[in-house]
Amino acid sequence: MYLKNSKIIVIKIGSSLLIDNKMKVRQKWLFEFAKDIKDLINQNKKIIIVSSGAIALGCKKLNLNKKNLKLDKSQAVASIGQIELMNLFKKTFNSKKINLSQILLTLEDTEQRRRAINAKRTINNLFDLGFVPIVNENDSIATSEIKYGDNDRLASRVAQISGADCLILLSDVDGLYTKNPKIYKDALLIKEIKNINTEIEKVASKSISAHGTGGMKTKIDAAKVCQLSGCKMAIANGLSLRPIKQILKKNNCTWFLTKVSKLDARKKWIISSISPKGELIIDDGAIGALKQGKSLLAAGIKKVNGKFNKGDHIKILDKNMKEYARGLSSFTADEISKIKGQHSNKIGELLGYITKSEVVHKDDMVEV
Ligand code: GLU
Repeated sequence: MYLKNSKIIVIKIGSSLLIDNKMKVRQKWLFEFAKDIKDLINQNKKIIIVSSGAIALGCKKLNLNKKNLKLDKSQAVASIGQIELMNLFKKTFNSKKINLSQILLTLEDTEQRRRAINAKRTINNLFDLGFVPIVNENDSIATSEIKYGDNDRLASRVAQISGADCLILLSDVDGLYTKNPKIYKDALLIKEIKNINTEIEKVASKSISAHGTGGMKTKIDAAKVCQLSGCKMAIANGLSLRPIKQILKKNNCTWFLTKVSKLDARKKWIISSISPKGELIIDDGAIGALKQGKSLLAAGIKKVNGKFNKGDHIKILDKNMKEYARGLSSFTADEISKIKGQHSNKIGELLGYITKSEVVHKDDMVEV
């Protein structure tokens, strides 16, 4: 029912749906999946597909084993495989007259506000033109420090940026079980999750499928992003033919529901950042001021961790290292090291130039 009521839907497909464990392309599956997408389009829904498979298809073409690949080699392999991936989609989706486009994203494209807005605009224009964007990480460019590394979290950020109503993570597991279903016969599929608490995190197993890099951990991380962005998320088994039809009919999956959120789009983007670059540890007085809706000033900052630039995402922690808020820093980490603990009217003198006085402005900050 959640899927039925959604207007903008992001569907992520894992590599193991496209390529079986003998490295054979699951052509028939993709053909049937195209029918699912066509049905959704006919119901006037806007669809974004996030597809993995570039590295797996590159390996197939070059006859390489993915497990032994070094990063620089895998970047080249992804470049070769991405075109194979799109060819596969184009060939298959053409038969259903579905127009496709390709968007390759790096971490910064979603984590920098201006670039995220730009991506959103491109997606909206593609919707207006009647095209279905197929998104993947730009693996050929991404390096290990600045990389999503898994398409689950990438898909959640795409869902958040595009204002999607729901995200479906199709993989080779049915969803989240109360226990490991491979070991325990009495394991039950959890149908709905309202709150991602430690119990839920515990049951999320660490199993990894043959091709994908995610496992349950990154799916839970994706669910957290979605929950904060007002986007429902499902983990569903996509292996059977017509997986979307199956969800509509049987709803045999795990749904993560959303929290009621009064945050605007920008604040949702701030709170669901994937990669905060640093931390500010602040004193009790500053926590009190933030609670009253004030901005964070240098005087209340005790310590700064990490290397970051102006405009980067940071975490704001209390003296017990508990996260209190997320925000965008108006200063670099180096600048904050020089001005921390000091009155705002000293900033000019300490830095040697005039800047604003709020280290994190209240409009750039969200309580967690
Ligand atoms: N972007 C990678 C690829 O296309 C996949 C990452 C993942 O498995 O989640 O091969």
